[in-house]
Amino acid sequence: MKPLIELKNLTVVYDKGQINETVSAKNVNLQIFPGEYIIFFGPSGCGKSTLLYTIAGLQIPDKGEVLINGENLANKKSKELIAFYRKTIGMVFQAYYLLPHLSAHDNILLPLLFSRTPVAEREAKAKELIERFGITSYSDRKPTRMSGGQQQRTAIARSLVNDPLIVLADEPVGNLDSKNARIVLEMLLDINIKEKRTIIYVTHNPRDLHYAHRVFHMKDGEIERVTRNAERGRTEGSAEAKGSELARLAEIFPYLAETRLQAKFILNRVMGSYDFKAMDLLEQLVEKYMQNGISKVELIKLFHNSVSGPGLNLEHSERLAENVAALNVEITKVRENRKEDIHREETVSIIKHHLLDSYVGGLNIDQAKRLSKALEERISLRMSSVDFAEFLDKSISKGGVGLNKRTAQKFTEETDLILMEE
Ligand code: ADP
Repeated sequence: MKPLIELKNLTVVYDKGQINETVSAKNVNLQIFPGEYIIFFGPSGCGKSTLLYTIAGLQIPDKGEVLINGENLANKKSKELIAFYRKTIGMVFQAYYLLPHLSAHDNILLPLLFSRTPVAEREAKAKELIERFGITSYSDRKPTRMSGGQQQRTAIARSLVNDPLIVLADEPVGNLDSKNARIVLEMLLDINIKEKRTIIYVTHNPRDLHYAHRVFHMKDGEIERVTRNAERGRTEGSAEAKGSELARLAEIFPYLAETRLQAKFILNRVMGSYDFKAMDLLEQLVEKYMQNGISKVELIKLFHNSVSGPGLNLEHSERLAENVAALNVEITKVRENRKEDIHREETVSIIKHHLLDSYVGGLNIDQAKRLSKALEERISLRMSSVDFAEFLDKSISKGGVGLNKRTAQKFTEETDLILMEE
């Protein structure tokens, strides 16, 4: 599955070159998948909002890229960007930001005025949201006559009026008492579960972590670690059968190179309902097992131990250790495959450079690409030596590399020689 949101080497610096220069995001890399509920969690000032506003396009990065649905926002013209955001992102803020002179109803449908939606459609949409989120009794009130909770419910309804794929919420319950906070957070959860909208919720409150599929723990402008919430299980809406989950593991290789994240993956597969603390302990133990630090028998003992482990009963500990061991075998296979892929890419590049070093003709981009592709096929033995030579010789217009016969033959022989040495 492709990420919906991707940050690549993202850096944001405020007050650059001044005495109070602050690096609020330091080379951040992350991927968020469709339908995920993500929390950016950490103390005040650690850079949560900076990341959120960068994703929202309200903050321009100093370095790095923001990709939404694979599109680099920096490549969009400002008009396209506005239209794109209207359809893609809904925002909710701690301070609500409702217009004071408009009723709840009018605040909710305001964004539709900008998109020139016909009146009847606007009204129907506002009515639907007002009913869905229990706003009916105060829908004609202006913000000064609403409670904080009512204002935030209105603001959430407004954020949904354009049916955005993503809802970004910056400390949306920071000003609310716990009862109203829960109502608002249940709304966000409902939006995530029912319509599979992707949610990013920024908070410093550990009370709320259970809402998310994954929590990005932040410190000093960096993502320190990512935890997955077993209580919410796997991401709704994402195909996570075992096969594709493993494939995804390979896809998000930058993270999963770390055995800790692989340990998370294993636990995710085998655990139903553990809280974060128990999960943390379990992850440490599974990671140790994966790094060959302990044997399966020791793993069972530690699962069972209530002082240095989570204190599961013996039968459960045994079953869990069996599952972990079986999945570790599969993970190792994926890791090996991945290594092979990387090895193959390297080999292609080395051979290609070797061949081209002594070639004075020069290749255009298409020819070079086709040569790489053919080398890949040849190295993985899906293409015979004869077919390889033919493909190199075949004209460009017929889809080949377009080398003359002698060069094609020379390249083929040299490739075969290198492969024999491999
Ligand atoms: P959080 O959301 O975790 O509280 P922020 O992303 O708001 O953190 O802030 C990260 C750091 O960047 C803080 O040190 C903050 O003071 C600084 N910062 C945020 N916005 C600005 C700004 N507009 N100008 C200067 N510094 C800022």
